[in-house]
Amino acid sequence: MSFADLGLSDKVLQAVTAAGYTEPTPIQAQAIPHVLARRDVLGIAQTGTGKTAAFTLPMLTMLETGRARARMPRTLILEPTRELAAQVVENFERYGTNHKLNVALIIGGVSFADQDAKLTRGTDVLIATPGRLLDHFERGKLLLTGVELLVIDEADRMLDMGFIPDIERIVKMVPFTRQTLFFSATMPPEIERLADMFLHNPQRVEVARPASTAATIVQRLVATGSEGHEKRDRLRQLIRGEAELNNGLIFCNRKRDVAQLQKSLASHGFNVAALHGDMDQRARTIALDGFRSGEVPLLVASDVAARGLDIPAVSHVFNFDVPHHPEDYVHRIGRTGRAGRAGHAFTLVGRGDDRSLQAIEALIGQPIPWLDGDLSALPEDDAEGEGRTRHRGRGARSGESARRSRGGRGTGEARSTSGRRNAPERARAAEAEATPAREAPSREAPSREDNPVASAPSRQRPERGSERGRHRRDEEDGETPVGLGAHVPAFLLRPAIVKKRK
Ligand code: AMP
Repeated sequence: MSFADLGLSDKVLQAVTAAGYTEPTPIQAQAIPHVLARRDVLGIAQTGTGKTAAFTLPMLTMLETGRARARMPRTLILEPTRELAAQVVENFERYGTNHKLNVALIIGGVSFADQDAKLTRGTDVLIATPGRLLDHFERGKLLLTGVELLVIDEADRMLDMGFIPDIERIVKMVPFTRQTLFFSATMPPEIERLADMFLHNPQRVEVARPASTAATIVQRLVATGSEGHEKRDRLRQLIRGEAELNNGLIFCNRKRDVAQLQKSLASHGFNVAALHGDMDQRARTIALDGFRSGEVPLLVASDVAARGLDIPAVSHVFNFDVPHHPEDYVHRIGRTGRAGRAGHAFTLVGRGDDRSLQAIEALIGQPIPWLDGDLSALPEDDAEGEGRTRHRGRGARSGESARRSRGGRGTGEARSTSGRRNAPERARAAEAEATPAREAPSREAPSREDNPVASAPSRQRPERGSERGRHRRDEEDGETPVGLGAHVPAFLLRPAIVKKRK
């Protein structure tokens, strides 16, 4: 099948040729004709499948007729993160070179004034994150009654981040007669419910099993002590030992660990940037651009910040922490081994990670081999404090690890789908999105000859692990201990001696 068979306009076909694409990807081939036929579409596809073009190309074709009115966008695309929203804008720029369309990006962390000016001029395509969109709406700067087509992208991520109540509000503001395109990488029951609610007689298109990992990725587990310094040490050994490492993404479960690990690697001579939700938009863009261009070959990231980013040709993924949610493992390692290229994915595993690891292996349907022996190969004294577990799958787990493996859902977790966010809450979230960066990742460290990722120590200042703002599942900082937590001082455990009165 060729692009010409899909019903796209000549202008769009020219832009597609100019982009160098010869054939539509499976999601494009399946979805585009239905979008052009004005059908609702339920697309089950991950990033990296070409799903963005699956909606931008037909939208461009459809928008060639008609024109925008002030404050009344004609189409609306909702994205869970600012980076994803910005990537969709890039897609409109790339494929819309032959069109004169007004595209507005409405995201947090940047000034309202410029966004207002764009909305006033009239927008053909409005690309937004939910919180900032509602803020504009509440200020009376926006009317959604002219929306002819609504795209809800990365719906499962919206769910994870607690955005579903916002999405439900927004959907109520757009006309019932609109066309809706709904994309999600996975279809848990809650997402099925939303799809039923938002879509009318949708055409379902599905391109890959959500739990599958590419066969081109060499996956390995790496046994490590559980202390931060032991994990950092093991990670450095791994990076240094990988001769084929061109560039690598390093994932942490918690924002504060992202900042700490980046600082530590930089101090050991690695050329490395950080990407997490507490950084402001400018710092995130600098970090990402440096990594994309190859200037900075290592990027330490949290799941939310890195989700869905289009970073081609990553040779290595390192999981500094085993993700608590197995689908995050699939997303993380999906950053490498793309388009048939070889990829490497290493996961550091400590005692206490057994439950999370079992869930991952169950999801991907295969055991992951160990690099140099499993946890039983670790020295005895490493088990201090958690010594009851000698081997994963055997023995009792410590209270701490057991709590974490129950799903890691801490007290300050992102709102569940049933928890509606009120206006003050959303305002707080918007404020958090606008939190100024305390650092900008260094872009100046030159590469060393012997290792492409090592460099002179970066001059980057450490970022303190601020916990302001929206607490996101993927960037959780663990549970708040109750009382003394897992640690009980020995003197409290001694039996009390009560003297009898005469
Ligand atoms: P996405 O899934 O939308 O994030 O797209 C992943 C990558 O695939 C992006 O770098 C696109 O530029 C690229 N891409 C999209 N469509 C095609 C196509 N038909 N042929 C080759 N690459 C494509």
